[in-house]
Amino acid sequence: MAAAGDAGTIGFKVVLLGEGRVGKTSLCLQYVENRFASDQKSTIQATYLDKRLNLGRQSVKLMIWDTAGQERFHALGPIYYRDANGALLVYDITDRDSFTKVRNWVKELKTIVGDDIVLCIAGNKSDLEKQRQVDDAEAKAYAEKVGAVHMLTSAKTGKGVEEVFLQLTKAMLKKNQDSKPKGQNRSFVQIVDTAEKEQSKGCCGGS
Ligand code: GDP
Ligand code: MG
Repeated sequence: MAAAGDAGTIGFKVVLLGEGRVGKTSLCLQYVENRFASDQKSTIQATYLDKRLNLGRQSVKLMIWDTAGQERFHALGPIYYRDANGALLVYDITDRDSFTKVRNWVKELKTIVGDDIVLCIAGNKSDLEKQRQVDDAEAKAYAEKVGAVHMLTSAKTGKGVEEVFLQLTKAMLKKNQDSKPKGQNRSFVQIVDTAEKEQSKGCCGGS
């Protein structure tokens, strides 16, 4: 099928989900600002960050939503993730319980959002391999079963961080192409350029 001309910039909303302290904020900061704080304070919460990238000729804007300390399961209402195109589900490879939480999130997302949301699972803190509590093969098999991409990341060293967002973006683009927009196609294709000009003063930072 022929490409439909210049597609402009596609905007995708991505939510980060996972237990507290697994490294969600650190992953965002490493990806968007190339920095890592070993004492990442829970008060430093980037609730929203965006990142532009190009895949071939397609320009993409990721609107990344980090949880503002409300990651306790069910503290976040569906309003946070219902319209997301992708979810990055993060666990800490040194914390078995955080992997169990990912399973809960997957069930919740499948029930409430269905298959429209692209899932990506990140086993973070891969630099702490010696303290690993989650078997990699088990995590991979689980991810495959639920149709998610699984990757190991380290927000500390940066390893796998760029890749995990890239894989997620590729999967969202693919889903976007596969689901023919017929007017009621969720918010998959958003040409963000115009909306952006009006909203550019709205977000975080300012002084
Ligand atoms: P969040 O609560 O999920 O947002 O987690 P944070 O990003 O606040 O990180 C929690 C703690 O884990 C902080 O002390 C981080 O410095 C640390 N941390 C995050 N990612 C990594 C990582 O990849 N490796 C290591 N060793 N520590 C990390
Ligand atoms: Mg955080």
